[in-house]
Amino acid sequence: MNSNKYQPVIGLEVHVELKTKSKMFCSCKAEYFGQKPNINTCPVCLGLPGALPVPNKKAIEWCIMIGFALNCQVSNFSKFDRKNYFYPDLPKGYQISQYDEPFCINGSIKLSNNKSVGIRRVHMEEDTGKLIHQENSTLIDFNRSGVPLVEIVTEPDFESVEEVVEYLKKLQQIVRYLGVSDADMEKGNMRLEPNISLRENTTNTTNKQILPIYKVEVKNINSFRFVEKAIEYEIKRQSGILNQGKNPIQETRGWDENKQKTVSQRIKEEAQDYRYFPEPDIPPLRFINSQISNLKSQMPELPTDKLIRFQKEYQLSKYDAEILTREKETADYFEESVRIGKLQKVSPKQIANILINKKVDFKNILPAKLIKGIVFSIKIDFVDKSKLRKIIQNVLLKNQKAVNDYKNGKIQAIGFLIGKVKQHFPKGDTNQIKSTLEKHLKT
Ligand SMILES: [Zn+2]
Repeated sequence: MNSNKYQPVIGLEVHVELKTKSKMFCSCKAEYFGQKPNINTCPVCLGLPGALPVPNKKAIEWCIMIGFALNCQVSNFSKFDRKNYFYPDLPKGYQISQYDEPFCINGSIKLSNNKSVGIRRVHMEEDTGKLIHQENSTLIDFNRSGVPLVEIVTEPDFESVEEVVEYLKKLQQIVRYLGVSDADMEKGNMRLEPNISLRENTTNTTNKQILPIYKVEVKNINSFRFVEKAIEYEIKRQSGILNQGKNPIQETRGWDENKQKTVSQRIKEEAQDYRYFPEPDIPPLRFINSQISNLKSQMPELPTDKLIRFQKEYQLSKYDAEILTREKETADYFEESVRIGKLQKVSPKQIANILINKKVDFKNILPAKLIKGIVFSIKIDFVDKSKLRKIIQNVLLKNQKAVNDYKNGKIQAIGFLIGKVKQHFPKGDTNQIKSTLEKHLKT
């Protein structure tokens, strides 16, 4: 099989769970990980008749901030819709989501190969309950029901697994920088759904605009590694079908880690199958421009900007700056150390080297202590051997009494001599000075 015969066309839907205190439409605690089942519930998130949802302002603001970070347009008008489908984890029989008026649209994000990936939309919805399958029964935990969920949908702009993984890492980094989600894959804070199809490889750019007539969506993946494997598997599987002159069917599949393959789950439903209609219990939302610009002004510095600034401001290589800005905590720690180090004439580069090459335990070593350590080791380096020898010879000449005392067995006299030498090297390593002195005294 010629692997270059087809060009992958990949889009992504990513669900990011927000770490707000309360749920999306009620005041129940949103934290569900490690909690006793069904304790954080109320008539709203249990979908009891007559219960009225009230949107979580913080969650909406955070959703919009994600939109800003992805260079989206934020709409002045938006609304919630009901997405109707039946599944036991959804007690209302519908999910409150956004259909045709999402909070944010038309964004983009740049990859390292300079390619711009389109962000179609960023919208707000609620999470469902959690099904726990047992041998002969299934239990439902509604603690997760109604937890704020942001869905980020890209255009089908990815052409390789590498591009997908880079985007996902960037997105994870962005939401962590914003402080709106832990984006912990293992806890299910970030769930990935790639859609994959193949087109014949061509240099003809008009053909590149035409999307394949089918698309296979792989649902609910919770690891970057699995996304890679699922996409690689789909590329192989679909090329096999295309090579037989057939078309893969449009469907939803799941990644089976044990079997190392994707398995068919259901034939893909279309948007009309959900019978979306406006949520009658929540009035549409209108934002005036000052509200939007006010939110924008609250945006923290994002990873890409920090990366550029670190290189410029601290004269770091791109490589160093990348490592230091990968996580906001590391970047903050570095900058705090730079501020303290400045007073002690420790350069940002020296701090960067220590942070990158030595595994510094941020939680237990405060920046001030780190700088102290650096100053100390730098001064030790500074005591160069020939300079030390010269100073020692001088001290010995000027302090004959102490020298004689030492030579006559009063070895504690060396303390006096060390003190004299140390006047020249206040932060010098005492052990180094002592052993050099001893050598001189023996001759
Ligand atoms: Zn509730």
